[in-house]
Amino acid sequence: MNRFEELGISGDVVKAITELGFENPTPIQEQVIPVLLKQNKDLVALAQTGTGKTAAFGLPLTQLVDFNKRNVQALILCPTRELCLQITKDIKSYTKFLPNANVTAIYGGASIDGQARDIRKGSQIVVATPGRMVDMIDRRLVDIKLVQWAVLDEADEMLNMGFQEDLNSILSHTPKDKNVWLFSATMPAEVSRIAKKYMEAPHEITVGNRNQGAENIKHVYYVVHARDRYNALKRILDYNPGVYGIVFCRTRSETQEVSDSLIRDGYSADSLHGDLSQAQRDFVMKRFRAKTIQMLVATDVAARGIDVDDITHVINYNLPDEIESYTHRSGRTARAGKSGTSIVILNMKEFSKIRMLERMLGKKFTESKVPTGFDVCEKQLFHLVQKIHNTEVNEKGIEQYLPKIMEELKELSKEELIKRFITDEFSRFLDYYKNAADLNAHGSSEMKKERNVTTKRMFVNLGQLDDLDNAKLKQFINSYSKISPGPVVAADVRHTYSFVEVESALYDQLVAAMIGAEHNGRPVKMEPSAGAGARIPREASSFGGGGGYGGGNGGGGYRRNSGERGSGGERSGGERSGGKGWSSGSGGGERKRSYGSGSGSGSHGGGGGRSGSGRSSSRSYRDKK
Ligand code: AMP
Repeated sequence: MNRFEELGISGDVVKAITELGFENPTPIQEQVIPVLLKQNKDLVALAQTGTGKTAAFGLPLTQLVDFNKRNVQALILCPTRELCLQITKDIKSYTKFLPNANVTAIYGGASIDGQARDIRKGSQIVVATPGRMVDMIDRRLVDIKLVQWAVLDEADEMLNMGFQEDLNSILSHTPKDKNVWLFSATMPAEVSRIAKKYMEAPHEITVGNRNQGAENIKHVYYVVHARDRYNALKRILDYNPGVYGIVFCRTRSETQEVSDSLIRDGYSADSLHGDLSQAQRDFVMKRFRAKTIQMLVATDVAARGIDVDDITHVINYNLPDEIESYTHRSGRTARAGKSGTSIVILNMKEFSKIRMLERMLGKKFTESKVPTGFDVCEKQLFHLVQKIHNTEVNEKGIEQYLPKIMEELKELSKEELIKRFITDEFSRFLDYYKNAADLNAHGSSEMKKERNVTTKRMFVNLGQLDDLDNAKLKQFINSYSKISPGPVVAADVRHTYSFVEVESALYDQLVAAMIGAEHNGRPVKMEPSAGAGARIPREASSFGGGGGYGGGNGGGGYRRNSGERGSGGERSGGERSGGKGWSSGSGGGERKRSYGSGSGSGSHGGGGGRSGSGRSSSRSYRDKK
């Protein structure tokens, strides 16, 4: 018996999904299907796109809906037309062998009459975007009084897009005793509120961690000057010759600009955004799906619901205003068990956003260097050479020309031939990159040095007597803890004991990691010190000035996080505390989430600088002995 049959899916449907290549249920299907089939309950499922969630609700519907009746029994609401069409197509394919099943898609931008006609034919399952659905209800073109199952797919996206009121209105036309199944990639407070409002003690299922991107996505960032953003994009594309991906921009005009520039520069790209007509968008999507274009340049809204497997890269040309959107963007890659890379191009000012994203996803982002001209050329050449190596010779096609060609080239050795061939194929590329500049924001690592973090101070029972100095102690603790980045930001080693400043966000992890630690056979003891935390440069290696806790900020010791970095250039305002680091921008009322103003990095304790030297209440280990 097939595993889907064991979960309760009937033979006809199993036959259809087997044709689609579904051999075994995905984890979310494994968890959700039995619950939906056997328990008459509401459901909240947290899952990314690409996990098989459409089938997780679609397959149970094929079993629960009575296809002998001709009224709407299941209503699936989703944020975009693309997703609406995709879900409809999927459910139609699951019900391929159920002759009475009717599934209708309802979405804006197409004839409302045609959709109404479809419904009248007896749709049992309606898949709709909220705006058009409200229209249809208002015009009495659809009756949802007998809906028994309401599915909210990508609920977080629907709220992000401002569909809250439409959802309220639609659901108010459905019976009270229906079941609601909510699927969402993230669980912001607004989605929890919906869950509370429309559901009764829902069954909760989380696939993967909450708010966490898919496991097999690698997150990488490049730090460049704002003016080099486009050139960096080109380098990254050139360095990944087989790339098939989406470049996300923040606005329609930026999307158009980037896409136009890429096309002008010879890349296989096109744009997708709200200024295009539906027909234009369909055309672009068709070409993208067929891989006729390699890069789709898109806004968040236009790209929602894009369900294309095999996307190798998602490139955040600019990060989204709403931090949650990042999850949706990156979730366009690494679908259906594949792996993928999500790239962020940012300038120094935006660096703190990486930390927020890391916190949100619970994942590390890797800093990468924008490839040099040499790197790109090497990669491209190798790609070309591999392509040649794997080319299947079209014997028949070239047969008649070969003798002449052979005659022409007979003087040339193999080595000479290869050189000429490569030169010819490649000279434009080599020329372009001959004097290519380094696009990495100069000293992105310096920038990190200036990245102030909030710290907590700890006492350590190791000191100079243990052959340690500031750098050695810091290194010992950081490498022992195996936490990255090293939690100890600064150390002040005294004769028999020391103080360290530990990044607050990593404090608990560090304490846990150091349990049982030993240094040269001696147990290491670390405990909180009475000193207040500080805002201090991340890469500082000592407490500065050689004088330890020298009282005040005079010399090269602690730098307060005041406006001293303020003037000009990329770096200005980067870490400013008062600024709106990452705000929702468009002021969508409380619907919108806003990040910034100190939210991620905690308070700015220690604004008053260090207190007096060495007056910790802690005692050294040896003192106590
Ligand atoms: P979704 O998360 O619903 O967008 O699904 C992502 C992709 O996985 C789609 O291309 C589905 O056709 C595919 N898929 C869903 N369930 C399975 C399964 N059990 N086995 C193989 N592929 C699946």
